[in-house]
Amino acid sequence: MNHLKFNRTKIVATIGPACEDKETLIEMIRQGLDVVRLNFSHANHTVHEKYIKLIREINEEYKTKIAILQDLQGPKMRIAELKNPVHVQPGDIITIKCDTHIQTEDYIPIVYDTFAKDVNEGDLILIDDGKVELTVLSTDKSSTVELRVDSGEVIKSRKGVNLPYTRISEPTITDQDYKDIDLGIKYSVDWIALSFVRSAKDIHVLKELIRLKNGKSKVIAKIEKPEALEDIDAIIEAADGIMVARGDMGVEIPMEDVPIWQKRIVEKCNIAAKPVIVATQVMESMIENRRPTRAEVNDVANAVIDGADAVMLSAETSVGKYPVEVIQAMASIIRKTEQEADSIYYKNMFIDKADKKHVLGAAVIVSACTLAKETDAHAIVGMTQSGYTAFQISHCRPRSNIFIFTNNKDMLCTLNLIWGVRAFYYDGFHSTDATIHEIHEFLKNKGLVTKGDIVINTASIPIQERGLTNMVKVTRIK
Ligand code: PEP
Repeated sequence: MNHLKFNRTKIVATIGPACEDKETLIEMIRQGLDVVRLNFSHANHTVHEKYIKLIREINEEYKTKIAILQDLQGPKMRIAELKNPVHVQPGDIITIKCDTHIQTEDYIPIVYDTFAKDVNEGDLILIDDGKVELTVLSTDKSSTVELRVDSGEVIKSRKGVNLPYTRISEPTITDQDYKDIDLGIKYSVDWIALSFVRSAKDIHVLKELIRLKNGKSKVIAKIEKPEALEDIDAIIEAADGIMVARGDMGVEIPMEDVPIWQKRIVEKCNIAAKPVIVATQVMESMIENRRPTRAEVNDVANAVIDGADAVMLSAETSVGKYPVEVIQAMASIIRKTEQEADSIYYKNMFIDKADKKHVLGAAVIVSACTLAKETDAHAIVGMTQSGYTAFQISHCRPRSNIFIFTNNKDMLCTLNLIWGVRAFYYDGFHSTDATIHEIHEFLKNKGLVTKGDIVINTASIPIQERGLTNMVKVTRIK
């Protein structure tokens, strides 16, 4: 399948009942889908295994590079199963118990063992994205908490519970997450996203776990807790990518703080050359409607202008009525914005001299991007094993196409999340001249470059040593 509708800003979409058939997924890919997200807050391992196999089958059959992002549930608190929704009004006193048995008349059960232990008198508790607000009146520090309803009308089964200012004791990686991570590693998913990250240590723990199990997956930190914002620089440094998880973030911190944090986090990630995803409620109204709201159109365009590597769809594609149309709409907003907004290009053209290991490679890549800018190059070509060159070229946000060649099969789909990058398998590595010629012929045959185009190649000489990028070549395609 030729990726006819290629944009630089990538689209992540959550798979679910609304798009789990092969034909729908293929159509979504045709419209611009780049990364499939498996939401481990829903569905069991059998279903997720089926999804992974289906995506891999499509990649094989259509030569696509759709990446798989496994999104772990983390320590998400939920109301347990209720017999009936509980109707409340401001001033009501209710009891919540750490108990997952079916509800009695006397209390509401919560799926979170240490709820009573963690909360304190006066703490704010939010249920169902803040639709119900409560204040803790008392806790027996063991199983039972009394609360006053401050606002809201109804408490329903399985709704999320947030404790914005309470230090929760459950570890960031839960027992269920460990089982889910094993599945992700078994199938070598490209990215694993950790929910409710509180510090860089959480990322180190997950990365060590993946390493010990010989996993290849890269790690995304979902930023949604106030503690994560306090440690944001260290988290960005520790993680391979970041997700601005605006759903829980908008409940955990005042909603009016979210837009500024989105911009801050995206900017920090851009500078650090770490991919960043803007997530949640991006095209929410398209769960039900064929067209997005004007505000949603603006939200996508602003994420592109901010510098996001990717924008993400959740229920819009997993359970929404228009999984194909939402990708189509999002891709056309991205396309138009990328055509018009000059400010998104040629950023971060600096060299981090403190990074002694990479300083020369980074200098060559910045030079290649400068050349691309000055010559209006059609493409920049990079060669990589670790992925470093791809991340670095993308980080400079060139207007030219970014074509990455690698013999590391694990990288091919992983790089599909990265702004602007299109990756291809290449294992030739003859002489430098022969390799560059072969790559140009390959791109010509695919219709990705044509006669007269200027192409900037970066590579490592001697090419057989596959070392750090140390050369740039400018060519006009014959
Ligand atoms: C979010 O809270 O914005 C988010 C992406 O997390 P999830 O949908 O997994 O709760």
